[in-house]
Amino acid sequence: MRVADNLEQIQQNINRACLKVNRNPEEIKVIAVTKYVTTERAAEALEAGVTNLGENRDEGLLTKWEVLKDKPVWHFIGTLQTRKVKNIIDKVEYIHSLDRISLAEEINKRAGNKIKCLVQVNVSKEESKHGLRSNEVIDFVKNLEPYENIIVAGLMTMAPYTDDESTLRSCFRKLRDLRNQVKELQLDYAPCEELSMGMSNDYIMAIEEGATMVRIGTALVGEDG
Ligand SMILES: *Cc1c(COP(=O)(O)O)cnc(C)c1O
Repeated sequence: MRVADNLEQIQQNINRACLKVNRNPEEIKVIAVTKYVTTERAAEALEAGVTNLGENRDEGLLTKWEVLKDKPVWHFIGTLQTRKVKNIIDKVEYIHSLDRISLAEEINKRAGNKIKCLVQVNVSKEESKHGLRSNEVIDFVKNLEPYENIIVAGLMTMAPYTDDESTLRSCFRKLRDLRNQVKELQLDYAPCEELSMGMSNDYIMAIEEGATMVRIGTALVGEDG
């Protein structure tokens, strides 16, 4: 499938979901997750009109960055090892996986300017998932104050791997409630407008529940090539 055709289909789904819950489709950023595909395929996505690319490993990001440079807005969406921060920090606009103070410290130290971070939350409490527990988020955000290069742009979660609609929706709603709680703190460094949630199999529901960033790999660029 051409990326352009997939994108058109996804955009229609987004428009329909927005209409249903009375949201403006322009609030939603589609991040093309290119971790499974080649640089050529990522370039095709840009041609098709995608402006945001997401990678979950530093190697993948660097390989594609060498070719595509600053054409897309880059998002780092995967678990980030502290020692790898220096490899990606001057290339990405958003880091979706801030989940510990030691990582905040390293980002703050290496960043040449303010960097937009999303705090990753393990809403579903699955052992295998990274991220803070919901009840740790508020204190964590408060503790980020000393790190002047960190902006808390929003929250991010990976929903559990299930088709069960009520489980998914409850996960998305919990993240939205938490985002609202952080926003209400009215901290200068934590505008917390963004909700990064929803992937190929659940982005429509995520949008109905308030997502502002959806991270779509398989359904947009495919998973092999
Ligand atoms: C791979 C990945 C995605 C995209 O997954 P798809 O199911 O292929 O859309 C989204 N978010 C993260 C953090 C990922 O690692």
